[in-house]
Amino acid sequence: MSHKQSRRSFFKKSTMAGLAGAAWATHFGQGLEAAVEKAPLLSSPSDLQITDIKCGYIRNGHSLFVKIYTNQDIWGCGEGVDATPGTYYLVKMFGERIKGKSPLNVHRLFEDIRRSGFFEGAQSGMFVAVLTAVETALWDLAGKALGVPVYQLLGGKFRDSIRVYMDTALYQHQLPTPEQFAESASEAVDMGFTAVKFDLDQSNDPNKYDKYNWTASPGELTRMYDQIAAAREAVGPNIDICVDMHGRYDLPTGEQVAKMMEPLKLMWLEEPVPAENVEAYKRIADSTSTPICAGENVYLAHGFRPLLEIGAVDIIMPDLQKAGGLGEGQRIANLSNLYYVPFAPHMVASYLGAMAASHVCASVPNFLILEWQIYFHKNPMFKEIVSYDGEMVVDGFIPLSDKPGIGVEINEEGMRKYADKDVPFFA
Ligand SMILES: [Mg+2]
Repeated sequence: MSHKQSRRSFFKKSTMAGLAGAAWATHFGQGLEAAVEKAPLLSSPSDLQITDIKCGYIRNGHSLFVKIYTNQDIWGCGEGVDATPGTYYLVKMFGERIKGKSPLNVHRLFEDIRRSGFFEGAQSGMFVAVLTAVETALWDLAGKALGVPVYQLLGGKFRDSIRVYMDTALYQHQLPTPEQFAESASEAVDMGFTAVKFDLDQSNDPNKYDKYNWTASPGELTRMYDQIAAAREAVGPNIDICVDMHGRYDLPTGEQVAKMMEPLKLMWLEEPVPAENVEAYKRIADSTSTPICAGENVYLAHGFRPLLEIGAVDIIMPDLQKAGGLGEGQRIANLSNLYYVPFAPHMVASYLGAMAASHVCASVPNFLILEWQIYFHKNPMFKEIVSYDGEMVVDGFIPLSDKPGIGVEINEEGMRKYADKDVPFFA
């Protein structure tokens, strides 16, 4: 008997037992039975239990993949990024906390882990990044167990496809010229994208006078303006352009760049200053009509509260492989919606993470746009490490998966050759 059949018979048996003797069942039983027939996947396998958790790392430990196993023939996959190097034993510790429990109580297991460290959950960094990967795998598992996509577990969807912007990664070039900015923007538009992102922080700019001081010189400011102006000129007024400064500059530079970019009508200016000081963000946001965006280095909904409360940012961008997971991502989006602040998640993960984030983006009204990476198109590794149906992206939109769970799987064999050598790989 297949798992689907056994779940279905479990539901039918329990439904019929529950209805036996109920007077209204004689009137409504036929309709109920027909409804059950049309939507037969509503039950929870009552004895589903977590049996094990395993993980693998690629990209020097910065990409963590976890797999949670059960006593039935289903598993869940999740991904964490950035703050994950060296966290193998943290994954194992979290696994011990959830073994033997039902993976269907996702929020409860999230809270159990979040509070399991010191200080009843006041955590950030590695702890939360690993929790994120585990929590995401629980959603995937719960969706597979119940036969529904994750967006359905999150309350349903506002949209069927997720608009993404192309991170051009021009950053990896040595001091790209304005012409390269223009070419890169045009390339993204030719691929069907309606929004692009560029990085402006260049430690090797010859106009920069000091390695540690990040006050942009007049020459640096001119270089930044010329680069973005060339991109704007190339794509015209109707393509969105985002600009990232990676939190490296200081307050006067942030204010100057935001003001200088106003004529170029950016979608946003991202992390002009480091992430820790929300009052500095507010100073910049108050000084300009350029929308200010931040949040990829903020953890949990608690971390976003002060940014929103004082109006420090115009757009928030939690990283959903890092900030606490899919449920926490939805809570952050809903919190920001109370402040009329749009939700534009950061995304530097694999296609598993992109689709996991897409389920959250589909489930909230204030979703603006999700990050997409040129590496999905140029680095073959990103297609080898996951398995999925259909196209990853179509004309600048991710088609939301309707498969049970996230809809994208880890391809362990494809990933193995890229795995970090000094850490156990799904063992
Ligand atoms: Mg950024």
